[in-house]
Amino acid sequence: MQTEVVLSLGGNKGDREKLLFRAIELLNDHFQLIKVSKIYQTAAWGGKAKGDFLNQLALISTGLDPEEVLDIIQEIERDLGRTREEHWGDRTMDIDILYFGSLEINSDRLKIPHPYIADRKFILVPLSEFLPDKIHPTTGRLPLEMLEACKDPSEVKIWIK
Ligand code: ADP
Ligand code: MG
Repeated sequence: MQTEVVLSLGGNKGDREKLLFRAIELLNDHFQLIKVSKIYQTAAWGGKAKGDFLNQLALISTGLDPEEVLDIIQEIERDLGRTREEHWGDRTMDIDILYFGSLEINSDRLKIPHPYIADRKFILVPLSEFLPDKIHPTTGRLPLEMLEACKDPSEVKIWIK
């Protein structure tokens, strides 16, 4: 069985644009890549990180299970120079699973849908354009409904179309 999975990619260290292109290439080696969003620029979120982030979403299809997808995206993060002590801080590449079909998971290692979708403009602005009809399986809300309710003051701009 194939499942459509929405991934969020982002980084604020190194050659951010090149790292995103490379991450997409690596994702394409492991999954069926359906489409990628524009690239967006966002001021650092969460306090500790300094440089602006470039963010992008990818829609993939896979027959793997969520844990296997997490293993692969963490391997890609490592390939692209990510070290794990950078939680909330500057990082070359962060790849998160936003949605896994309409599955809901709440384990130590994996929370799906990603718990911060509704709180982060750098996810909601791209998502509203990229997958405007994608319904959050827990809340039943559309990207634009979450965006209108979101209190994140960050400015998210289109970087590359
Ligand atoms: P963050 O993405 O919150 O900045 P990390 O990338 O360092 O932080 O991830 C920390 C941990 O979050 C990972 O080791 C992973 O097990 C866990 N995690 C939980 N849910 C998810 C998800 N939906 N996507 C990616 N990682 C997740
Ligand atoms: Mg992450």
